[in-house]
Amino acid sequence: MNAYRRRKNVLPQNIRALLLAAGALSLIILFVRGCLYAKNEGGAGDGNAPLAGEPLRVYDARLKKTVEMDLEEYLVHVVAGEMPASFEAEALKAQAVAARTYTVRRMASHGGTPCGRGGADICTDSTCCQAYQSEARLRENWGSEYAANLRRVRDAVEATAGEILTYDGLPIEALFHSNAGGVTEDAEHVFASAQPYLVSVTSPGDELAAHYTDTVRLTRAEVTKALNKLYPNADVTAKRLDRELKVLSRYASGRVNQISVGDVTLTGRQFRQALDLASANFSLAYSEKYVTVTTVGYGHGVGMSQYGANAMAKAGSGYKEILTHYYTGVEIASLYK
Ligand SMILES: [Zn+2]
Repeated sequence: MNAYRRRKNVLPQNIRALLLAAGALSLIILFVRGCLYAKNEGGAGDGNAPLAGEPLRVYDARLKKTVEMDLEEYLVHVVAGEMPASFEAEALKAQAVAARTYTVRRMASHGGTPCGRGGADICTDSTCCQAYQSEARLRENWGSEYAANLRRVRDAVEATAGEILTYDGLPIEALFHSNAGGVTEDAEHVFASAQPYLVSVTSPGDELAAHYTDTVRLTRAEVTKALNKLYPNADVTAKRLDRELKVLSRYASGRVNQISVGDVTLTGRQFRQALDLASANFSLAYSEKYVTVTTVGYGHGVGMSQYGANAMAKAGSGYKEILTHYYTGVEIASLYK
């Protein structure tokens, strides 16, 4: 005997009909939210009402509790945490759309995959989900600039209200980073899988940013310890580091693909993580005591470069142009009907 039959025996006919209708309705709602986003050719914020729905469930990693928030209000605090408020208005708008898209992919009510911490859709830990700055933190960070900065960020979120990036009708994985070092990276060179919209593009203007290149000087002992700790089979020695570390190949972007580290071969990304480098586009120089690492760019390099976006905005590009430059072949759609 199956469950349906058992249920049939204990539920009155009218309640069963109601349950069936509710089930069908929620399926329709999931379909509409998860699959079909209206293509948005015009500007947002034109008075359309948002889809009625569950609020965003946010796990506050500092307070260790889950709170319900309005999606757009949450985004004000994310954009404030992810991009300097001094950036151009069009760059802030591009960031707002990328952050909204990222968020929607975590929302259970949109068919997304929740972060899960505290039972929430998304959390405030930037190493897990996205950066989030509370009002108290923003007041502290911005001081006398608080009102003006908040206005700039809020304007960017409001001007793009409901707008997300889609590919084949679905929200994209809208990855972004600080500075691409002139060229972004194919997703599969950094993360597990390729995405047609996360392919390498030029990122002019990155070179104008303060952290376009970075140089760190580490002792040979520090480098040896860090590498052997994570990769004991590497078995490198401080004295022979200059012979034991050898870049084997680079991607067209300049980022290291493979590097031989003693007895093992690591990806550029693994080497970057082991030494906490600004990017996987690095070169090494040696002295008797030190290893000097020079990096180009800041961050993983996939998707939108924030400094590149700011440079494009300064040169006159609108946020849609910025987004479609960094995310190949995407469309801008609206959550609001
Ligand atoms: Zn999270």
